[in-house]
Amino acid sequence: MPIDPCADVARRAWLPCANCAKDSGCSSCFDGSNCASHWQYLLGNDGPRVFLQCPQCSNVWNVNTRVGAVSDLVSDRG
Ligand SMILES: [Zn+2]
Ligand SMILES: [Zn+2]
Repeated sequence: MPIDPCADVARRAWLPCANCAKDSGCSSCFDGSNCASHWQYLLGNDGPRVFLQCPQCSNVWNVNTRVGAVSDLVSDRG
């Protein structure tokens, strides 16, 4: 699957990929900082549900963020 045309590097989410989840062993991810290597495209959202695409494996999925504080995980500075 190609990267979605809606994918924008300015809109990223620091959530683990549901498919490849290659974050293990990365010190930046472990620290909880916004890792430069491990992040997902934020394609959009429907209420608390956000749609993500992994730039590494192009997996697309969505997750309900209502259980957490999405503002801590999502960058929307674009
Ligand atoms: Zn992935
Ligand atoms: Zn990382």
